[in-house]
Amino acid sequence: MISDPNLGNSGSAGRPAAGGGPSTGEPAVNAIEVEHIVKKYGDFTAVDDVSFYVKEEEIFGLLGPNGAGKSTLIRMMTTLIPITSGKARIVGFDVQKDPDDVRRAIGVIPQALTSDIDLTVEENLNIYAKLYDVSAQKRKAAVDELLELVDLTKWRDAQTKTLSGGMRRRLEIARGLVHSPRIFFLDEPTTGLDPVSRVAVWEMLTNIKAHRKLTILITTHYMDEADRLCDRIAIVDHGKLVALDTPAALKASVPGSNVIEAHFDHPTADWEQRLHALTGVTSVQHEGAGMYRILTSDGSKATTELVEMAVRAGVGVKSLSVQNTTLDDVFVHYTGRQLRDELVKSYSFVMPPRPGMQP
Ligand code: ADP
Repeated sequence: MISDPNLGNSGSAGRPAAGGGPSTGEPAVNAIEVEHIVKKYGDFTAVDDVSFYVKEEEIFGLLGPNGAGKSTLIRMMTTLIPITSGKARIVGFDVQKDPDDVRRAIGVIPQALTSDIDLTVEENLNIYAKLYDVSAQKRKAAVDELLELVDLTKWRDAQTKTLSGGMRRRLEIARGLVHSPRIFFLDEPTTGLDPVSRVAVWEMLTNIKAHRKLTILITTHYMDEADRLCDRIAIVDHGKLVALDTPAALKASVPGSNVIEAHFDHPTADWEQRLHALTGVTSVQHEGAGMYRILTSDGSKATTELVEMAVRAGVGVKSLSVQNTTLDDVFVHYTGRQLRDELVKSYSFVMPPRPGMQP
């Protein structure tokens, strides 16, 4: 069931903690609190009154099509751009009033690879550790531990330019953790990677979470990634938060619990309407070239009827599959579009300034 998407109040999580955070010396209950945040570029509203919170140690996904406002949200949360109105707090620190404290608490992995290809893996980590004032004694242990965590120990002396894309992404992730941030922002961490490397990155993130007290906010346009990694997912569209819940609850919120994908040979002109009339059908999408995606609450009955109807009409069935609802269906339900149809943007996301630097 979907709770109020604007507040993101769901499951066992409560509202943002009152009185937590640095001022009282108590740990903040919520790692991230965003309240009625707005970003305007001139007359254009890129982020429109969005509120949500992320609990400590949660993996929280921001999912949305190109131009939805995900990067703008991350940029505001990581002190890169000013907020037009509203508030964002990171481990209790106000992004606008305490930007240095926020920067010390966060690690940010931009989409663009930014490690120095002429340095070795270990040198890249050491340089970053020095930039973040990690003391010499701690540095060696931190680098050793991170190399182990991202499975790059035996590559520590390799030049970064010799690494594969997936290994380089893992190095970037290790680098973002050298100063032991409490909150980790990852912008599309697996875009451009092959399927095997993507899974390796997922496993690595899960492994890191098992070893460190870390909250992760990740943006992605991969539904399977969001489904597998995230405890909760916020769907963002046109600058607004349109749904927020666990992947299971989001899927359960979509009318129809089964998806039939069917490929027909020369369907009749009224085929879409006829598919609509099958048992439990809540939506029919024509994907072109005789392909249909049908949501139904009774997969087995609708499938039987579909085959009988095709036989009667003399329409061939080239392929047929029945599966449970996926996050793709959730996305279509809340935005009216398919995420896979949206172009993947290839913008460059820059690092936030280090503590003490002016943005
Ligand atoms: P997403 O990350 O979800 O693809 P963005 O946050 O990058 O979306 O962009 C949200 C909207 O804000 C888009 O319409 C984009 O064109 C617009 N936008 C982003 N940055 C700027 C800017 N600096 N000036 C004007 N418009 C911007």
